[in-house]
Amino acid sequence: MLLSVFAVIRVILVQPEGEYNVGFVARLCKNFGVKELYIVNPVCDVTKGREFAVRGIDVLNESRVVQTLDEAITDLDLKIATSSIADIPGDFLRKSVKPWEITKLILNKRVGLIFGRESVGLTREEISKCDLLLHIPTNTEYPVLNLSHAVGIVLYEINRNAIQNSAKISDEALRLLDKYIREVVDTIKKNPQDERIYYSLKRTILRGIGDEEDARTIIRFLRKIYLRINGDI
Ligand code: SAH
Ligand code: SAH
Repeated sequence: MLLSVFAVIRVILVQPEGEYNVGFVARLCKNFGVKELYIVNPVCDVTKGREFAVRGIDVLNESRVVQTLDEAITDLDLKIATSSIADIPGDFLRKSVKPWEITKLILNKRVGLIFGRESVGLTREEISKCDLLLHIPTNTEYPVLNLSHAVGIVLYEINRNAIQNSAKISDEALRLLDKYIREVVDTIKKNPQDERIYYSLKRTILRGIGDEEDARTIIRFLRKIYLRINGDI
């Protein structure tokens, strides 16, 4: 539940070759509250993944099989490719971010995490369609993780961060924070570019708030600013 307050996550598997991996990934999605699983042009029998999905079976049943990566990513705000091969000097496409670095970028976004084929990973063309390339640091002698293990590590890291950021803040406080940030920004907005203030402010405030008390104080503060600007107090 917490993860879905934080961001909408879609796990995308490109041409998975092993049904066990598809099943394990569906289970991981369920473990970490990810509802969207897209499978691009699978080369294995996805239905055989069921026995490995266990109680993640509903995620597998509701997964979408599409023919191209484009279909899986068109409606997303942020697309994050993943690879075991990263940071080769001179190769701009393979400059990577680490799992703990993406957590601060995904707040309130629709985010796709794109994982490649067990045999050859993602193509350069597929990576170039994404905004970021994520690499999980490992023993450099053997950096290639099993596909489902890579999914598990990334989802764990995102979920860990979501718990730390919003565990002690009620849904009502989150709603009120959003409401007053929205209202203050709408009041001072002069041109469409000012819309970015809303996202920036919300992200910054949510990242910094430690508990419900903090949240209530900031809500009061924003509410007072809003009322003052509008001449009500
Ligand atoms: N039905 C069993 C399942 C055990 S899973 C049970 O509920 O105990 C097998 C092992 O994986 C567990 O014994 C534990 O070592 C590890 N494991 C599974 N999920 C875990 C979690 N969320 N946190 C820590 N260890 C976990
Ligand atoms: N020989 C292929 C192996 C792909 S492993 C290659 O090196 O590209 C299958 C998928 O697991 C990868 O496409 C990637 O999505 C993920 N993966 C494996 N190891 C990873 C790592 N260290 N960091 C990030 N993703 C990894």
